This record gives sequence, C-alpha cells and structure tokens, in this order.
Amino acid sequence: GTSCATAKESGRNRIHFNYRSVEVAQRQSVAEWIPIITDALEEDRFVLYCQPIVPVTESRASKVRHYEVLVRMVDRQGEIVPPGKFIPVAEHYGLIEDIDRWVLNRIFDHLQHHSNKEQRFAVNLSGNTISDEGLKDFIVNKFKSTGVSPQRLQFELTETAAIRHFDRAMDFINALKDLGCYFSLDDFGSGLSSLGYLKELPVDYLKIDGSFIRNMELNEVDYSMVSTINHLGHIMGISTIAECVENSSQLSMLQEIGVDYAQGFLIARPMPLDNLR
Ligand code: C2E
Ligand code: CA
Ligand code: CA
Repeated sequence: GTSCATAKESGRNRIHFNYRSVEVAQRQSVAEWIPIITDALEEDRFVLYCQPIVPVTESRASKVRHYEVLVRMVDRQGEIVPPGKFIPVAEHYGLIEDIDRWVLNRIFDHLQHHSNKEQRFAVNLSGNTISDEGLKDFIVNKFKSTGVSPQRLQFELTETAAIRHFDRAMDFINALKDLGCYFSLDDFGSGLSSLGYLKELPVDYLKIDGSFIRNMELNEVDYSMVSTINHLGHIMGISTIAECVENSSQLSMLQEIGVDYAQGFLIARPMPLDNLR
C-alpha cells in the first residue's frame, strides 16, 4: 500500500468483503491463513517493529523516546509478512488475543531489559483483545512480575473497538490509567462512531487518521478535519498525534494547526525493535 488508508483497505475491509460476499474459493484462501497464524504462534515466528512519535515542533530532535509497536509475522522462508495480511484474519477467527498477548509479553521483556531507558511504547489492542476478560489481570500481573513502570506503556484502541466493547474498554482504561499507563484513540475520525463517545473515554492522545493527513494538502475538507479534531482534542485536554506524515509540507501544515505530535515515513519508517539502542 502507499498510505495508511490503503494499507488498512487491503487488510481489514477486504477480509470482511471476501467473507460476506465472495465465492468459496476465496473464502478458503482466507481460512488457509488460520494454520499459518497458529503455526507462527507455536513457532514464535513474530517480530516487533517500532516507529517513533515525535513532537511536531522539534521533529528533527534526535532524542526519541516514544514509539508505536507494530507486529510482523516471519514466514518459514524468513520473509517478513505485514500485519495487513494476517491481523484481519486473526481478528475474525479469534486468534488476535494470542497475537496481542505475544506482543505484550515481548514488549514487557524489552522494557524489563532496558530499564535504564526512558522509552515509552504504544501497543495496539484489537477489540477482541479488549473484550477478553482476563486481559486486565494479565497486564497487571506482568507489571508485578517484571517490575516495569506502567508509565512506559501506552495502549492504542480504535474508536470502533472502544465503542463496540464500551463497558470492557472503560473498565480496562480506568484500571490501567490508575496504574499510570497512557491511552490513545487510534484512527480517529475514520470510524462511523459518534463524537459523543469521546467525552466518555478518558484517553490521553487522539491519533488523527492517516487518510486526513494524506489529503490535507490537496483537500480543504481534510485540512479542516485535522484542524477540527486537533481543536476538539485540545479543548478536552487531549494531546493530538498525526499519523502517516510523509512530506514536509504536511509537517508545516501540522505546525500551523498546532498538532502536538507526528508519526510517519518523513520522520522514520518502522524499524526492528532490536535495532533500538
Ligand atoms: P495502525 O495502528 O494505524 O498503524 C499505522 C500503520 O501505518 C503501520 O502499518 C505503519 O507502518 C503505517 N505507516 C506509518 N507511517 C506511515 C506513512 O508515513 N505512510 C504510510 N503509507 N504508512 C505509514 P503496519 O505496520 O502495516 O500496520 C497496519 C495495521 O495493523 C495497524 O494500523 C494496526 O491496526 C495493525 N497492527 C499492527 N500491529 C498490531 C498489533 O500488535 N496488534 C494489533 N491488534 N494490531 C496491530
Ligand atoms: Ca495504531
Ligand atoms: Ca492508526
């Protein structure tokens, strides 16, 4: 894909489309991913990448401390498989909880072994993972057993997932915020949900969906979306993050608007977690 939006289209949406409406042959090809995913889980063939999130006003700053964690699968040939290929299937067939827990185990491991660093990592959690009853205790116990400081962990939930699993999400967010973890609402503006829910969700960051950033140079409406979401966030005391920042003219527009943080290929491509020094 050439953008966040494209990447997502070739993942989540396409699976839904295949599953509902297309012939058996194609449905099978989706189902064929199930053993591929379960084998990868059994054989520990996943790897974490991370991408920096930096303040818009000092985007060339070298001291990056804040990263989003992005999972990849490694196939039997050692090739990297992007999440757009397997996350939507995993979400559909109840395998995402296992993947998200794999990610959490791995990131706790990293945090525990780099306790001198001030790095903070933002981990994506799918809706099914949030609705998993044992998740909260799992994470609380990880903090206990590793001694990792909760301030070093952030969670990204999409608005759609947060709203679909509203009670669970609220319980999860409140409990982990009490411990000191941070929360972002991911892909903000891309869902069909009502803005009213934003008032109820005590998140620290709004991630403005990449589709608005991509088009903001060309399209006045997209520019206004970014500006409006930013304004709304700030009025509610929520910091804003622009995703998918690919060029410097987008970055200057974000500066002009007053968006707090930027993430995207312009700043850095996702890199293997193990490459972080
Ligand atoms: P997301 O959470 O919206 O993550 C941002 C995606 O945009 C990442 O794709 C990232 O590589 C890509 N990206 C970042 N900057 C740019 C840019 O400037 N231009 C373009 N074109 N793309 C950019 P990635 O790594 O392929 O992940 C795709 C999606 O897979 C994520 O979208 C997220 O929904 C899901 N995902 C990734 N890791 C996990 C995970 O550990 N758990 C769960 N549940 N979902 C995950
Ligand atoms: Ca995310
Ligand atoms: Ca996103």
